[in-house]
Amino acid sequence: MNKKQSGLNTAARLKGIIPENHLKTDPLYTYAYSGDASYFRLIPALVVIVNTEDEVRAVITAARNERLPVTFRAAGTSLCGQAITDGVLCVLGDGWRRMEISENSEKITLGPSVIVSEANSALRAHDKKIGPDPASQNACKIGGVVSNNSSGMCCGVAQNTYHTMDRLRLILSDGTVLDSGDPASREAFARTRPDIIAGLETMASEVRRDNELVDLIRKKYEIKNTVGYSLNALVDFTDPIDMLTHLMVGSEGTLGFISEITYNTVPDHPHKAMALVPFATNHKAAEGVQALHEVGVSAAEFMERKALASVEHLPAMVPFVPMLSATSPAVLIEIMAENPKSLDKDIKTACAALIEVGAL
Ligand SMILES: Cc1cc2nc3c(=O)[nH]c(=O)nc-3n(C[C@H](O)[C@H](O)[C@H](O)COP(=O)(O)OP(=O)(O)OC[C@H]3O[C@@H](n4cnc5c(N)ncnc54)[C@H](O)[C@@H]3O)c2cc1C
Repeated sequence: MNKKQSGLNTAARLKGIIPENHLKTDPLYTYAYSGDASYFRLIPALVVIVNTEDEVRAVITAARNERLPVTFRAAGTSLCGQAITDGVLCVLGDGWRRMEISENSEKITLGPSVIVSEANSALRAHDKKIGPDPASQNACKIGGVVSNNSSGMCCGVAQNTYHTMDRLRLILSDGTVLDSGDPASREAFARTRPDIIAGLETMASEVRRDNELVDLIRKKYEIKNTVGYSLNALVDFTDPIDMLTHLMVGSEGTLGFISEITYNTVPDHPHKAMALVPFATNHKAAEGVQALHEVGVSAAEFMERKALASVEHLPAMVPFVPMLSATSPAVLIEIMAENPKSLDKDIKTACAALIEVGAL
């Protein structure tokens, strides 16, 4: 049977469970959902807008009965085709927009449809933000941030979802729900899914027996060059449930559905300064970033010469152009501090470090 027909059959199975106007099979609509921010295109057999955990469960069951894969989609800003499919595209509706800040603002609980900048706007009054800061934060949603383990200019590795997650609520493909912040849910999961617990324990002990592999995993996940499953969960945690929730981070929707997360918030000091600092060579720029890291600068982003060339005609770039050779890059820096006095002090320290390494 072709996928288009299977999509129609899946929609028929979901009638009465999902509102009819949330089941889309007409070609114009499915075509509209055939792209994300990547250059790939797949036309979904069915687009379903989901708003509750029961609906997610129903979609997974119906699609499985028609042998169609399910792909979740939050805002669809993925750059590598994570949010497209020729099977069932399960799009998050507005039913997942819970946002609750804890009393001391140390934590925020978010539904997967909350846009990152909305969460940060709510936290701004408390001088806090969530750790992950992708440049797409005005559009991308929490479900996508967790599943891609998105990062950004300030967050690096230290403040990504893996490291700032306090609790995760998820649904597995068989409908099992796990809420890692609820002891009763953890206990029920361990009781009803001993197969998963045992599987995780076996995987973890296999990995840990191999010291070379453990060292490689630790090294790779310390730096920002890993995508996909957070394999470090197998060496960082001893409780299989903690391994599972952390493996969900970066799993791109392949291990289960994320229906809620609680983040530990991070400081967002109100006083900030930014600068674009040119360097003679890429090597010098790298030394500059290292020096800035040592004096506590919150963000430094490398800009290669071609990136600078693309904006060279803009008035803001006029003072920089005479300093740039055909290959010289720049580093975009942000410093933040609790008050103007410490901001001034930090700027002076950063400038001294930059002069020391020979910034232009
Ligand atoms: C201009 C631009 C700038 C960007 N800058 C950055 C950046 O600085 N850093 C960075 O890391 N990325 C960046 N990205 C990539 C992308 O925006 C981020 O990864 C973003 O977090 C994805 O969120 P989304 O809501 O668009 O998710 P989607 O693209 O809709 O989905 C992402 C993945 O999550 C899965 N998913 C979504 N919701 C759920 C759920 N509830 N449960 C399970 N799985 C789910 C999807 O199946 C998919 O695999 C950028 C993209 C653009 C277009």
